[in-house]
Amino acid sequence: MTDLDVAIVGAGFGGMYALHHLRGRGLRCRVFEAGTGVGGTWYWNRYPGARVDVESLEYSYSFDTELEQEWEWAERYPAQPEVLRYLENVAERHDLLRDIQLDTHIVSMAYDGAWTLTDARGESVSARYVVAAVGFLSARHFPPIPGLREGTFAGPIVHTGSWPKEGLELADRRVGLIGTGASGVQVIPRVAEEAASLRVYQRSPHWCVPLQNCPMPPDYQRRVKADYPELRRAELESFSGFVLTNFELPPPGRRGRREPAFDVDEAEREREYEFRWQAGGLCLYNSFGDLLVSEEANRTLQDFVARKVRSIVKDPEVAELLIPKDHPILSKRLCGESGYYEAFNRENVTLVNVRGDPIEAITPTGLRVASGAEHDLDAIICATGYDAATGSLLRIDIRGRDGRTLREHWARGTRTHLGAMSHGFPNLFFLDGPQAPSAFFLPPIFTQYQAEWVGRVIEHMHERGARAVEPTAEAEEGWRRRVNGLAARSLLPRARNQLMGDNVAGKPRECLYYLGGYADYAQRCEQVMAPDQGEFVWA
Ligand code: NAP
Repeated sequence: MTDLDVAIVGAGFGGMYALHHLRGRGLRCRVFEAGTGVGGTWYWNRYPGARVDVESLEYSYSFDTELEQEWEWAERYPAQPEVLRYLENVAERHDLLRDIQLDTHIVSMAYDGAWTLTDARGESVSARYVVAAVGFLSARHFPPIPGLREGTFAGPIVHTGSWPKEGLELADRRVGLIGTGASGVQVIPRVAEEAASLRVYQRSPHWCVPLQNCPMPPDYQRRVKADYPELRRAELESFSGFVLTNFELPPPGRRGRREPAFDVDEAEREREYEFRWQAGGLCLYNSFGDLLVSEEANRTLQDFVARKVRSIVKDPEVAELLIPKDHPILSKRLCGESGYYEAFNRENVTLVNVRGDPIEAITPTGLRVASGAEHDLDAIICATGYDAATGSLLRIDIRGRDGRTLREHWARGTRTHLGAMSHGFPNLFFLDGPQAPSAFFLPPIFTQYQAEWVGRVIEHMHERGARAVEPTAEAEEGWRRRVNGLAARSLLPRARNQLMGDNVAGKPRECLYYLGGYADYAQRCEQVMAPDQGEFVWA
């Protein structure tokens, strides 16, 4: 007899809902969470400017329809404190905390007919099933710059993904910031407002679009709440999970991917882009149906955004540096910004191009670039991203059947079926993991689906009298081919891309997420429980 039916690792959106749902099915569950509070990403990412670039009315659970109506969102795009308050409220409302063990960092899991999980203090617990809800962007990445991790620098070095709870003193300080992805783009304008000076060390610019954030208009919130079931339905029918555009739920037919860019003339294309730029957020993804697959179509959007950047940034040289030249727009994740480009018009902000002159070392007083220049700094911020999707799983010593480690199993590329389970690792489920739609679909909604699927798989096992379930090696191989085949037909591989694992040295180059869309994904997940399927072994 195991201590638990289900051990859940991580108390973010996914782990919290998994607890609620699986406990509701009568399973004995406990969540193990490294932080001292719930929230996952929203617990750790406390940097100034952190906010979701999907609208609050969409970036929330759909399972609690009363909460949907009761919760009053303060902003169109909620900042980190608001999302964290929301999740804390969910934990309290559904009495989740009694089954969440905080401040518990799981460091290993081993399977021997059941799973044994061990935490950093050496305490162990056994469970029949494990749900790894560790987040696809939680394994913080520091670039291998000499001196960065060795305590060389006299001042603080802070990663955006583990921002100190007490905050970082910025006033009167000379701050250096490394990284201009989504985190850097959000934190830069806020640091610029407070610090004496800010040097932004940019290796590659990202494409950014304005969020057009604002306090939540009360009548808009009321309108969406009156139509929530329809909004949720539309989300599940869409590719990315977010559909609200310009304060409207677009009518059917205009919600998801649309006609190719060259099906309309140039004036119409410009109108569409301008409308979406003013509407705000990531809705430019949905402008035309072929932006992610056709270089020519993509170029029209690149030109549009480049013109916008040139019109905002006063120094033409700085503007050119901020415009990506090395990858198509949307091939890396688009960044939603609030005052990012304007920050470079400030006297106290300097853009340092480290593309040809990389940071060579962190020194006691700041940093040195390869050409020999020394920069004196009082604080360094690393907005250097994550070992995405696989990193948070591989940093746990996971051993499956016969002691084989997940690290060995994935050494030459990720192997899962449906991004949900791996061969040789029975009864271990991944939520929002690699090779699932994860980064391409709204996490609160997607993890709800996955947690419910896990519940159905467990029920199915009970019905069949099975004690263990795992995918076959063939199913895994087929899924790997499908995930990477879809990516190969897109523009994703055209960028040096964290979505392709390129940002971490030694990581295999592969598409980390499933590009086939939620609807297709969910249909495939449901099929595996059909009597004649051969993709999973129920033993
Ligand atoms: P990221 O996109 O991986 O960006 C990391 C940045 O660090 C890149 O600009 C990278 O440059 C730079 N960098 C790494 N090593 C460097 C070095 N040695 N010298 C100079 N620069 C270096 O990470 P992120 O910004 O944390 O974003 C990760 C993901 O988190 C996003 O894609 C998104 O999914 C999510 N996110 C979402 C939001 C939101 O919802 N608003 C906010 C934040 C994050 P290169 O590009 O040249 O490698």
